[in-house]
Amino acid sequence: ENLAKKVDNISLKKETDENYEKPLSKEETSLLKKMLHNKLVQNNQELQVQQRDPTSPLYSVKSFEELHLKKELLDGIFSMGFNRPSKIQETALPLLLANPPENMIAQSQSGTGKTAAFVLTMLSRCDISKPYPQCLCLSPTYELALQTGKVVEVMGKFLKGLKVGYAVRGNRIQRNTSITTQIVIGTPGTMLDWSRHRAFDLRKIEVFVLDEADVMIDTQGFKDQSIRIQRQLTERCQMLFFSATYDEPVIKFAQQIVRQPNVIRLRRDEETLDNIKQYFVRCSNMDQKYEAITNLYGVLSVGQAIIFCHTRRTASWLAKKMCEDKFVVALLSGELDVSQRASILKRFKEAQERVLVTTNVCSRGIDVEQVTLVVNFDLPVDMHGRPDCETYLHRIGRTGRFGKSGVAINFVMNDRDMRVLQDIEQHFGIKVGSLDTDNFNEME
Ligand code: ADP
Repeated sequence: ENLAKKVDNISLKKETDENYEKPLSKEETSLLKKMLHNKLVQNNQELQVQQRDPTSPLYSVKSFEELHLKKELLDGIFSMGFNRPSKIQETALPLLLANPPENMIAQSQSGTGKTAAFVLTMLSRCDISKPYPQCLCLSPTYELALQTGKVVEVMGKFLKGLKVGYAVRGNRIQRNTSITTQIVIGTPGTMLDWSRHRAFDLRKIEVFVLDEADVMIDTQGFKDQSIRIQRQLTERCQMLFFSATYDEPVIKFAQQIVRQPNVIRLRRDEETLDNIKQYFVRCSNMDQKYEAITNLYGVLSVGQAIIFCHTRRTASWLAKKMCEDKFVVALLSGELDVSQRASILKRFKEAQERVLVTTNVCSRGIDVEQVTLVVNFDLPVDMHGRPDCETYLHRIGRTGRFGKSGVAINFVMNDRDMRVLQDIEQHFGIKVGSLDTDNFNEME
């Protein structure tokens, strides 16, 4: 038994380390989600609101008309196909647009309508006739700054004379240049640079937005630079703070940036394993794993499947073999850049391929409603070969979403795999049943 363990560990070492595919970083995941969410993400959790002044009545709106916006702005919103405010917008917008302006901290997962809410706030508060910056937005990445800018341009397209400036790498400015755009969006370093060059006056800023604060604090220096910018704003300036998560470091950061805020939180729908049926299949070698996959493909009459492999090498081997055998599959692994990943995931979302072969790289970034089956071609272990329960949850949480039920199948090839699976069972307090390779039909 001990010897077997040793041998397992040695062979595992050889296979992992350099080949282990790490999950995407926070900023890559957030960008990928942004690129994929071209519609609202539904959320069934209750909104939690903590008002700055708990005695004042809390309004929520069911329509954009109730907000008394400029006609051009309302037209801009409708032209984007928004019919009614999202869950978080219903409550956030009346607070955001109140006069005198109040500060806000808002937390909700990606895709719930935060960007649209603060863009609307900036647009409704800037005076187009004045040719200088009145609203600033800080983003953690170059790409996100451009994306947010696009939303400003589209939503504000009927506001004649509106201009957006981008304080991002590459856009250096000369001394004595004055920025004439009403809105400036950028990353903290370049934004600070522009203000040092007196390209605009921080004391004239009416709205200051800090977007994706949780991602922001992951980048060295961004937190301090943001605070340095914020310190130069006036008391009057409206401070808005947005984040997908709200744990201790983010809360601390928020307290440094936003005085006397209204706090709105929309918790993430819990990921549970309750509505996911989990099985394992014994395979004695790679050929049997492959055969099991092809059998599964046969029973996958509805919905879509994701197959997770441990290494990039296994993933590309599997995808290639399946393609050669005329199965239609997509492959997503770490060597691709973010726009290539986004386009593969987009195709998968549109069901152009029904099967996606991948590694851990996107285990957190994929939200595809139609996924009914997740296969762990290799069980999730970290780069040292230890069971990785969190990744297990993320991977199989890709199915059974939005109240639907899903199936997860784990391939078990040897004793080491069995031990990993037992650890996972223990961790989640679940029992994973055995399934016969030739008899997948019994799943239903
Ligand atoms: P977040 O900033 O929380 O990630 P976004 O504001 O980017 O969310 O919104 C996610 C997606 O939903 C975007 O494609 C956006 O255009 C769309 N969206 C935002 N608000 C609405 C709305 N009220 N009605 C319909 N779609 C909306």
